[in-house]
Amino acid sequence: MPVADHARYCEMLDRARNGKFAYPAINVTSLTTANAVLTGLAESKSDGIIQISTGGAAFASGASVKDMALGAISIAEHVHRVAERYPVYVAMHTDHCQADKLDKYVIPLVEETERRRAAGKPNLFNSHMFDGSALTLKENLDIAIKLLERFRKNDLILEIEAGVVGGEEDGIKASAAAKLYTTPEDTLEVARRLNEVRGARYLLAATFGNVHGVYKPGHVKLKPSILKDCQDAVVKKYGEAARFYLVFHGGSGSELHDIHEAVDYGVVKMNIDTDTQYAFTRAIAEHFFKNYDGVLKVDGEVGNKKAYDPRSYLGFAETALAERVKQAVKDLRATGTTMVK
Ligand SMILES: [Zn+2]
Repeated sequence: MPVADHARYCEMLDRARNGKFAYPAINVTSLTTANAVLTGLAESKSDGIIQISTGGAAFASGASVKDMALGAISIAEHVHRVAERYPVYVAMHTDHCQADKLDKYVIPLVEETERRRAAGKPNLFNSHMFDGSALTLKENLDIAIKLLERFRKNDLILEIEAGVVGGEEDGIKASAAAKLYTTPEDTLEVARRLNEVRGARYLLAATFGNVHGVYKPGHVKLKPSILKDCQDAVVKKYGEAARFYLVFHGGSGSELHDIHEAVDYGVVKMNIDTDTQYAFTRAIAEHFFKNYDGVLKVDGEVGNKKAYDPRSYLGFAETALAERVKQAVKDLRATGTTMVK
């Protein structure tokens, strides 16, 4: 199917919240990882979201170019071309963009969207995240409102974050004193300010102890009930129409009961990076360990071209990543939910 357009993406999000399931949003950094996500979604008969972080996008543009906007556009153009061959809908999203990176990432991507729309072409992206969680909530929302007004004109959905996701992603490490649990008061303020931009849509990453990365059991204390408290508060004050569409960051390594509870409270998108990174690399490691004298030229031998051809191990990695995506879809109760008839 073609990449979801704005109307279809909105419908995807509505269906998820009403149906109490969520879409996996998988970080990709290459053609191979993007193809793997499409395969995993297609085999699960689930629509889903492909996302690109600032670091992933810079990587995709090439080590000597390191242009994050260019890399994101490049992956998105690829997905738009190949998505047609998969019987599900996928939406394109960009992950965490801190305020100091907006001018290098989200803004050039919005400008690209504006150019494309002026030329009568479809958007490459459906949504972008602005991560102002390191700022005060007021500063965060001041920037978010400006973005949201521009996004509305371009059929783009904004994702913002209130509270801080712990751990480390893309080399950005949350401080130990960071506010890992969003409060209902914070989210009421989000609704009060952002809902003034009539007709715009946004997703809220409200944090409930989420941590990027995977840790041994016991290190992460998720409190999904915080999400319910936030939803109850916003519906009480502003009515049912203000109910949030929530995003679960740091989904990797989470326990199933926490995932299900969060989805019950309105999570429609769960970000997964670490677990899919591991699945991808594990398959490569297995190939290298099993074929040590094939991938390397040992003791004057010549190795085995079939074993060191990158297509061999990247093919295994693609399959392994697709399998992990299928697991994520299942965990999020999305199997079989595609809108494709
Ligand atoms: Zn995140």
